[in-house]
Amino acid sequence: MSGDLDVAVVGAGPAGLATAHALTRAGCSVRVLEAADAVGGRMRTLREHGCLIDTGAEMLPPAAAYPATWKLIRDLGLDDDPGAVPRVRGALAAWRGGRVRPHVGRPLGLLTGAGLSPRARVDLLRLQTELARAGLDPERPERSPLGARTLAELLSSYHPELRDRLLGPLASGFFGWDPERTAAAPFAAHLASAGSTAHWRTYRDGMDTFARALADRLDVVTGHPVTGVAVEVDGVRLDSPAGAVTARAAVLAVPAPVAARLRPDAPGIERAHLQACEYVPMLRLSLVLDRPMEPAGARGGFATLVPAVEDPVLNVVTVDHNKHPGRVSAGRGLVSLIASPGAAADLLDAPDDEVADRLTARAEPLLPGLSERIEAVHVHRFHHGLPAAGPSALRTRAAFTVRPPAAVDYAGDWIALRPCSEGAVSSATTAAERILAFLTPRTATPVPTSLED
Ligand SMILES: Cc1cc2nc3c(=O)[nH]c(=O)nc-3n(C[C@H](O)[C@H](O)[C@H](O)COP(=O)(O)OP(=O)(O)OC[C@H]3O[C@@H](n4cnc5c(N)ncnc54)[C@H](O)[C@@H]3O)c2cc1C
Repeated sequence: MSGDLDVAVVGAGPAGLATAHALTRAGCSVRVLEAADAVGGRMRTLREHGCLIDTGAEMLPPAAAYPATWKLIRDLGLDDDPGAVPRVRGALAAWRGGRVRPHVGRPLGLLTGAGLSPRARVDLLRLQTELARAGLDPERPERSPLGARTLAELLSSYHPELRDRLLGPLASGFFGWDPERTAAAPFAAHLASAGSTAHWRTYRDGMDTFARALADRLDVVTGHPVTGVAVEVDGVRLDSPAGAVTARAAVLAVPAPVAARLRPDAPGIERAHLQACEYVPMLRLSLVLDRPMEPAGARGGFATLVPAVEDPVLNVVTVDHNKHPGRVSAGRGLVSLIASPGAAADLLDAPDDEVADRLTARAEPLLPGLSERIEAVHVHRFHHGLPAAGPSALRTRAAFTVRPPAAVDYAGDWIALRPCSEGAVSSATTAAERILAFLTPRTATPVPTSLED
């Protein structure tokens, strides 16, 4: 088998597309095989009812926090238009005692309160100082001085409000994480690198803008679910009901549990890490409204955290038409409700009506009259929502990162246990370098020693 291609990439999410982009630029023939009918993965946008409905990812911070993403944004010329990646105003608030408290996650919140008591705010400063001193690297969480401590263990020496009203709700609402089971290191590194919520941005034309721009420049086949990946004497065979593809090498840019299913015969070190990288589910309900609504006190703001001590079912309310007015046609509204981890697990396979009824009822205290204003409902179910980032995955990661290059490699947000699109995009550089190292002796075109410009 000489292979149809140099490299087949499985998955057209940000990781797969960024990997294919790097390999194509290095001179390889590459095809991306995507199971869904459109690109974007968990960063996909639906265009329905005159709305741009982001199904998964919502926002991105600036370049200092997402360097790999912003490098590609510049390479693709997405920032040539200064309005293409606009700021999100009033990005984060918290619900406390029947009121929205704005300015969460930004210095101004330390003055205004942002849902925390004065003593909790002092402790937040103490925690931030400690994390800044720890020199955390989001790409290498296993080297963190926090070791295998869980998030709950890290927070136990701080004011309980930090766990109950800020960092616990943040971890559960945005990453689906249970502080008792999640390792502190990836969360702390993400928090320390993400900076102030005052700088959050979004893509004006939908969060899938990035994926669509990459896909336009690549050979991508949608509606092509890969069902098995076999390493043979002279390459890799990727089976699918849509037809088998052969390539000299393959990159599996899918969540780790999917990669584990595709490659039951993966070598021991890979297998151990694939199995340790569990995922948590996420459940989001998007509601198209006949007019804009926002929680009282949110003042044009975007996301409101609802701590479990306030409501154990509803975890985040986002006002998508405030994220960017172009998300809806004039006069309409778009809000999303994110379930808590427990509710997500309970409701993941429930009918749409049941999900909508349960979550909408919970949002009524924040958005009185919400159920009267709904024109259309979309439930976004993610069985593999985000990498669970448990202590066991931290332990298996060290050996995984130093395995020798091979015919099958991996990309995705689970590689560095980084629960965001930057984790996915940055994993692409390593995957592409490893594949080039594997192919180099037989690659016809010269292969650059580095993928950096
Ligand atoms: C609800 C939610 C909110 C989020 N919010 C943010 C946010 O605001 N900011 C942020 O930066 N990140 C956010 N994220 C995380 C971000 O979306 C992910 O980290 C990122 O999409 C991961 O990219 P990926 O390419 O690794 O995986 P994915 O995006 O999951 O892409 C994998 C692709 O592989 C395809 N695939 C799977 N199996 C197969 C198969 N057998 N054959 C072929 N194709 C297959 C899938 O259809 C998918 O398109 C959020 C995630 C969720 C779920």
